[in-house]
Amino acid sequence: MAVPPRIFYEPAELRAEIRQAQTSGKRVGLVPTMGALHQGHLSLVAESQKSCDLTVVTIFVNPTQFAPGEDFSKYPRTLDADLELLSEFDPVWVLVPPVDAMYPPRSTTEVKAPAIALPLEGAFRPIHFDGVATIVLKLFQVAPADAAFFGQKDYQQVRVIEDMVRDLLVPIEIVRCPIIREADGLAMSSRNRYLSPEEREIALNISRSLHETVGQIEKGATSAQVLRDRIDQSLRGAGISEIDYVSIACPRSLKSVETIEGDVVILVAAKVGNTRLIDNVLVTPPASC
Ligand code: AMP
Repeated sequence: MAVPPRIFYEPAELRAEIRQAQTSGKRVGLVPTMGALHQGHLSLVAESQKSCDLTVVTIFVNPTQFAPGEDFSKYPRTLDADLELLSEFDPVWVLVPPVDAMYPPRSTTEVKAPAIALPLEGAFRPIHFDGVATIVLKLFQVAPADAAFFGQKDYQQVRVIEDMVRDLLVPIEIVRCPIIREADGLAMSSRNRYLSPEEREIALNISRSLHETVGQIEKGATSAQVLRDRIDQSLRGAGISEIDYVSIACPRSLKSVETIEGDVVILVAAKVGNTRLIDNVLVTPPASC
């Protein structure tokens, strides 16, 4: 039965209630989001519910992770629909803080994201991960959960959070959850709603080329350069010309590999029309002996 989630606007009120729940023995899970929820977000809530007694979802479009000219002002804000989707889960609390509750007037302190933030997204969106690390640490303060759930969809983001939590001794377990895709393979994203039907068809080539590359690695391909070039060519052939990066990298360090000998992550960022999309896949090559 649908149960409307309990909504908090005041971080201090949420923190007090979480502390009380924990004192009474409840394990609390946290799912940070920017709203415009889809099944990818809901899979994180479902994962939290497997191991936690109470799940806190935060909905906050964080201004500091958007550079001027990015889509902060037009980012989809669909609070009523989000609450409706969350009412399928119980018990869920939702924090919808005003901007000045998360960034008090005159605040100037920010988190410098760990080194893992520098390549890939960090090279194309230089302020992005400092903004992400800052807001996520603040959310960990106002929602001091036992575990926080993040999607592999934003692979480098979850690596940034893992390293930040390690470096700053934050007492929270970080749980990585798999990418949820549409039936045709497109990775779910709040930004997919910007795509026209034609652009969506073109965007499908991103997941398709990743999937094909997985098949090639599973059949024994080992040259990262050859595979990167094939992805690049297949995206360009499909009409995707603004490719920020195609990377085949170590899943831990995100350093590019030349020869695929162990697990790798393949990451792509590209623009389809005006919409910047990211996707990735983890691959284990066949054993060599
Ligand atoms: P966002 O609202 O885009 O900031 O995303 C909030 C959380 O949902 C992040 O941990 C994302 O990685 C995760 N997420 C977004 N899309 C997906 C997806 N398709 N599958 C799994 N998790 C996702």
